[in-house]
Amino acid sequence: MARTLIAGNWKMNTTLSDAISLSISIRDQLTLPPDTEVVLFPPTPFAVPVRDAVRGTTIKLGVQNIHNEESGAYTGETSVTMLDGICEYALIGHSERRTLFNESNDFINQKIQACFAHGIKAILCVGETETERNEGITSQVITRQVESALRDIEGIERLVIAYEPIWAIGTGLVPEAEEVNHTLGQTIRSQIKSLYGTQASEETPLLYGGSVNPGNAYTFAQADHIDGVLVGGASLDSAQFVEICTQFTLDS
Ligand code: PEP
Repeated sequence: MARTLIAGNWKMNTTLSDAISLSISIRDQLTLPPDTEVVLFPPTPFAVPVRDAVRGTTIKLGVQNIHNEESGAYTGETSVTMLDGICEYALIGHSERRTLFNESNDFINQKIQACFAHGIKAILCVGETETERNEGITSQVITRQVESALRDIEGIERLVIAYEPIWAIGTGLVPEAEEVNHTLGQTIRSQIKSLYGTQASEETPLLYGGSVNPGNAYTFAQADHIDGVLVGGASLDSAQFVEICTQFTLDS
């Protein structure tokens, strides 16, 4: 069985003092059942102060992006080796990176390889556009994204996948939990099984992301294949984020 994981992606928000007070506020309000992970993804410059704020707690830290090379002439980028001792997770292939920064499936694959080679866990984000959904090709789109992202991967136990329909991110629109469950179970989990076997498919946490809030988190938690949520906007408010964690783990 996969562990429960709730992640907060702060995107390009917060100042240094906001980031520290948000992480302290989450730290002070959060109580978690065993086998539940909460991972915060602050902007990279605030990774160290947020790490220090949550040190000694069960809250984990991640960055929102990495480069696949270890060092070199890549102005503005952060390598996985730089994250050694700072964070445990990286978000890879978020739809905003795919769309706004033209990240290809191949590049995403290289980033995952770099993460795993350096002991960093990756939350791979996949999801279809509204047009693709209306055309009824969600499953094909997700299958292609997962297949190319996971090519030649060693260290599959470090993988988490977040299914984030692009039309649901930041819009207040959400799919039915049953629809998400179907995509996670029938498309993603069965694909992991055919690529990496039963154990990997059962133990890889699969998350839903897209307009998760305290009012809908419990419904998603009820679905068999939804092991956690990736929260954007609502993770910037400590009370909302903690309530999402509480709702998601109510029956644990
Ligand atoms: C996200 O950016 O990954 C996300 C899910 O955002 P929101 O919760 O704001 O829709």
